Amino acid sequence: MRVVVVGSGPAGLYAAITASSYAKVKLIEKDEKLGGTCVLYGCIPSKAMLHPGAIAYQLGRLGKKVEFSFEDAKKLAKDAINRLSKGVEATLESYSVEVVHGLASLSSGKINVGGQSMEADSVVLALGTEKPNLKGTIASDDIPYLDGQFNVVGLIGGGVGGVEYGWLFKTLGKEVHIFEKENKLLPYLDDDLRSEVTKYFQRLGVKLHLGDLAKVDEKKVLFGNETVNVDLVVFTFGRRPSLKGFDGMFSSWIKTDERMYTGVGSIYAAGDVTGSFTAHEAIHKGIIAGKNAVGIKEKYVGEMVPKVIYTEPQIAYVGKMEGQCVRVNMTENPRAIAEKETEGFVKVCQKEGRITGAVAFSERAEEIVTIASALSKMPLSEAKEFFAPHPSYLESLWEALRRLQP
Ligand SMILES: Cc1cc2nc3c(=O)[nH]c(=O)nc-3n(C[C@H](O)[C@H](O)[C@H](O)COP(=O)(O)OP(=O)(O)OC[C@H]3O[C@@H](n4cnc5c(N)ncnc54)[C@H](O)[C@@H]3O)c2cc1C
Repeated sequence: MRVVVVGSGPAGLYAAITASSYAKVKLIEKDEKLGGTCVLYGCIPSKAMLHPGAIAYQLGRLGKKVEFSFEDAKKLAKDAINRLSKGVEATLESYSVEVVHGLASLSSGKINVGGQSMEADSVVLALGTEKPNLKGTIASDDIPYLDGQFNVVGLIGGGVGGVEYGWLFKTLGKEVHIFEKENKLLPYLDDDLRSEVTKYFQRLGVKLHLGDLAKVDEKKVLFGNETVNVDLVVFTFGRRPSLKGFDGMFSSWIKTDERMYTGVGSIYAAGDVTGSFTAHEAIHKGIIAGKNAVGIKEKYVGEMVPKVIYTEPQIAYVGKMEGQCVRVNMTENPRAIAEKETEGFVKVCQKEGRITGAVAFSERAEEIVTIASALSKMPLSEAKEFFAPHPSYLESLWEALRRLQP
């Protein structure tokens, strides 16, 4: 059996290595480097750049000052990108996946690259997204590759990207302005979380412009009656599906069923191009697409997927904040007190004896919310019995579960 996968991001990588146990797999990538948005422009460089900021923040809490420049952060990002891109290459090679570089397109029902058509019994499209491209602005993807001096940064959008990069630029010593049309940061998330994060950003000294639409005019951002002069404008939302080569067949986000089947020929799709926006959803969808592409019928279940914003403290959330909810502040947590990390809280909700959702704005929020997600699979009465080490940040989750009724 022959499978062709298009795209080497997390979805394509996992579709290819999964299918390779049962089929001969070719993976097509248009970029020179492998890894997709996640490795080359997104998850990896942003986390490499945020790490020194987190260290500086924690030392600051203990009264010590350490400074990192944007150039230091960029160097860490480049190292991480190169290392992980080579890692993707090595992984594909170890699974005997053949990599072909070029722009794939579909014509007469066949995948073409560089004028050659490829024989395939099934195809997985893991095409990802394209960054927003607005005159006078850059996208988050461009930040690790940015040259030149700048001091004042304007971020359009106070969602996940605006908050993560706003925090980064602030800890790197820049003047940061966030423009958000809602009256708090992080639209659509839990209201307590939005209020606390908004207040925290104000205390950090990030200049928030809330409740109106921003207009960009060269190096000026117009917001209501205000005009803010900036050196750099980062547009943090508005990604579109990357459909070049496949636009004759799909006009927007690719719809699939639970098996990641597109309903067309033997074509499956996975990852951001199907309308999800995290690398871990892309990975899981890629695995399911890879299995179905070789005839193993499995369904993707995308409920209770934890999501993390890697600021310090971290911000993490999962599920729906509905039913009965309990909030435990970090000022109640012995470990947080010992380490002077008492900013934030954990909040968990339950309905009909199951965890429906959780948010954490705290140290180790990613672990707290991931464990809440795992515990949501069992009845609350059993979830309450989990042991959290003492003293640990996880005890705030345990305490919230303890206080939930019944
Ligand atoms: C700034 C930023 C930070 C992020 N941080 C995180 C994070 O911390 N955690 C997280 O979970 N997610 C994060 N994300 C999101 C994450 O990057 C995506 O969810 C993930 O990359 C999606 O994987 P994918 O495989 O679907 O697509 P992509 O990673 O976009 O890969 C698609 C690949 O397909 C290739 N391709 C497209 N069309 C063709 C064609 N016709 N022919 C050949 N090749 C083609 C592209 O070149 C690309 O390499 C971040 C994103 C950004 C922008």
